[in-house]
Amino acid sequence: MKKRILVTGGAGFVGSHLCETLLEKGHEVFCLDNFFTGQKQNIIHLLDHPYFELIRHDITMPFFIEADEIYNLACPASPIHYQYNGIKTIKTSVMGAINMLGLAKRLNAKVLQASTSEVYGDPEVHPQPESYWGNVNPIGPRACYDEGKRCAEALFVNYHRQNRVKIKIARIFNTYGPRMHPNDGRVVSNFIVQALKGEDITIFGNGTQTRSFCFVDDMVKALIALMETPDTVTGPINLGNPGEFTMLELAEAVLRLTGSRSKIVYMPLPQDDPMQRQPDISLARKTLGWQPEVQLEQGLKQTIGYFKNILNL
Ligand code: NAD
Ligand code: UDP
Repeated sequence: MKKRILVTGGAGFVGSHLCETLLEKGHEVFCLDNFFTGQKQNIIHLLDHPYFELIRHDITMPFFIEADEIYNLACPASPIHYQYNGIKTIKTSVMGAINMLGLAKRLNAKVLQASTSEVYGDPEVHPQPESYWGNVNPIGPRACYDEGKRCAEALFVNYHRQNRVKIKIARIFNTYGPRMHPNDGRVVSNFIVQALKGEDITIFGNGTQTRSFCFVDDMVKALIALMETPDTVTGPINLGNPGEFTMLELAEAVLRLTGSRSKIVYMPLPQDDPMQRQPDISLARKTLGWQPEVQLEQGLKQTIGYFKNILNL
């Protein structure tokens, strides 16, 4: 059945892939974005599609449209960008959630929240299951994002309990792939761009901190599978690739796959930078019948190809 689907943050990295896949599945897609970190270039190939509509709007303001499903992805995701204007990041997470939940309530629509592994903060439980409450500094530099997303989760569960809104909370772990912005500041795009340009590879700290990287195609499949679950499935549910790597291992993989002769340099570790992160995806495996398929090396190759192309290298 053709559905009308609103994707907030649809011109961003994950959102643009999601819009594309939803159109391929035959749905009508409304892509809402204020272009803070998103770009028209990400969705330019969709603009002529008869069932695609682009709406420039800021999600901190109420928005009304007729839709069956809402994917709420609007929020800067890179530490550099979400710390640029922390107040705005909190408003985007909290007021954006209120606005989208209000809309879902009025329409009796399903609404999916792009939450994050950052709700676990610098985790003391490893790998992280959904039952872990996290270790977040509420006044640190990452708080605007972490606490904004935690408050959004609280809003989602309260709208569900009080108003029976059909919610889905996805706790997304580090996701990478084509259409990350070259100046996005996140580690995968930074290392690839640096390697391709022959610039120093900047490792923050000693490079022993870990992350688990999920290729964007796998993530999009998981988000859609979660949206399609019965109304009794609300989450939160971890989505990510459990393959865990140190930042040094990532830098070495990028150097090998690009054939770059860039040197690795070490820079100070930002405050509150989590030391380890790995999703426990047992719940996603069981509930969605999903698990990531793209190995890091394969995903990096595709991402490197993308950056070579856009940087003309
Ligand atoms: P992104 O920065 O590429 O995309 C975010 C999009 O939201 C951008 O297009 C931006 O312009 C838009 N946006 C920001 N503030 C807005 C506002 N006030 N009103 C309307 N639009 C606004 O980031 P992404 O990696 O695509 O992340 C998408 C979502 O997934 C975010 O909510 C992020 O927190 C979440 N997430 C991503 C990751 C990841 O590793 N990529 C991990 C965890 C969670
Ligand atoms: N990082 C790094 N060099 C960079 C950018 C990031 O070593 O140029 C590190 C960062 O300190 C963190 C990890 O890579 O430990 C992942 O950072 P990212 O900003 O991608 O995401 P997050 O910290 O939110 O997981």
